Amino acid sequence: MAYTLEGRTGTWEVVCGLEIHAQVISESKLFSGASATYGGAPNDHVSFVDAGFPGMLPVINQECVAQAVRTGLGLKAQINLFSRFDRKNYFYADLPNGYQISQFEHPIVGTGVVEIELQDGTIKHIGITRLHLEQDAGKSMHDQHAAKSVIDLNRAGVALMEIVSEPDIRSPEEAGAYLRKIRQIVRYLGTCDGNMEEGSMRADVNVSVRKAGEEFRTRCEIKNVNSVRFVMHAVETEALRQIEVWESGGAVKQETRLYDPARGETRSMRSKEDAHDYRYFPEPDLLPLILEQDWVDALAAKLPELPDEKRRRFCAEYGIPFYDAGVLVADQAMADFYETVAKGRDGKLAANWISGDFFAALNRTGTTLETSPVSAAALGELLDLITDKTINGRIAKDVFEEMVETGKPAAAIVEEKGLRQVTDTGAIDAAVTKVLAENADKVAEYKSGKDKLFGFFVGQVMKAMQGKGNPALVNEAVTKQLG
Ligand code: ADP
Ligand code: MG
Repeated sequence: MAYTLEGRTGTWEVVCGLEIHAQVISESKLFSGASATYGGAPNDHVSFVDAGFPGMLPVINQECVAQAVRTGLGLKAQINLFSRFDRKNYFYADLPNGYQISQFEHPIVGTGVVEIELQDGTIKHIGITRLHLEQDAGKSMHDQHAAKSVIDLNRAGVALMEIVSEPDIRSPEEAGAYLRKIRQIVRYLGTCDGNMEEGSMRADVNVSVRKAGEEFRTRCEIKNVNSVRFVMHAVETEALRQIEVWESGGAVKQETRLYDPARGETRSMRSKEDAHDYRYFPEPDLLPLILEQDWVDALAAKLPELPDEKRRRFCAEYGIPFYDAGVLVADQAMADFYETVAKGRDGKLAANWISGDFFAALNRTGTTLETSPVSAAALGELLDLITDKTINGRIAKDVFEEMVETGKPAAAIVEEKGLRQVTDTGAIDAAVTKVLAENADKVAEYKSGKDKLFGFFVGQVMKAMQGKGNPALVNEAVTKQLG
């Protein structure tokens, strides 16, 4: 069902496109050797180039270029062997050069496509318009001194990738799913850490509304939204605001707005500047960027398996449902964990254990995959004991809890506590005989048609055997003895 909003004059559709700024993971900045590491004392990671000293020249960082190409490949996008840097002129106190080196006319990456999945399981494709490289600015702080503003240039010159989507997004949910998907892809690729709280990923959200069948109307751009939840909320609030403007006889003006999460509203910041306001021109201090196809191919060959492909492979190789596979590939570490457990074992059993008892244990003990008391190898050994029938599924749960608590291997716990499954039919038969004798009244009820009691007898036999009976053999023996 398409997402729509109801106004006084009828039904409205939402149109949205995102511009995502993703900070490149690299040792040094895009055009200088200064460290690109997050944090550090203010102005510790600043070279003369970043500080805009006269006569300093930018030198392109090859690793940043490689990261942009990897990201482009991950977005199934066109890699442009010819691209060029342009100078975008504007004044900010924290932009010492008075211009930003960006890519305008000839971005390094062209059109691509990203697959998103919605709550109801629908798969939708969102077009990528382009990805270009540019420099980040520094940070002005107005709350550090009573009368002065201070500037930290540590971020100035750090490489950013701006990933621009087509206006293909039609709801807050799609906007959220798209942003999460981009974050997942760059994390898999290792090209951006995707930490929105630290600002290494943020989104400009473009929103307009229209009646069904119309052309696009004027959009507004909401700057620097820094969480998935805020992006979703910004789309909705801004759409509602625009509907109100149109319905009260006004016209939406193209402008840049700010999202205020505390008030849950967007506010006008400035009227939207056009490209010509920036006086773009080819950056005279840099040559055009020419890539060799062989170099791009070498990067492509080393690309990790991406989440969509991994998900489909998990379904095919391990026979697990598409939904479960989606949960398991949420991040690379989880996918690796699953695969270590599942390899050479029953993939469904592995998936059920991980998404059930294992996740519950992580939550309960406040641990993560990395700090978990039970490693993938240890969990795999437990599953082996179930599969080779050393223990039954019920006892396995107790063994697992003991593993979480003590960190001991499954086999040691089974031996120590004598938890081996009983498959000796003599012992099982004896237990069944005893239980049926003790419950003669229930046996009579069963025989007069109360079929449901079968489960009760099985339960009692299991209990008498401290849970260690082989379930199939116990069932068989109860059936036999009940006649
Ligand atoms: P600019 O360069 O001025 O920022 P672009 O054409 O590059 O403008 O578009 C920026 C973003 O706005 C893109 O993500 C695009 O999908 C989105 N967008 C364009 N037109 C609309 C529209 N009518 N409604 C919503 N989003 C739009
Ligand atoms: Mg833009």
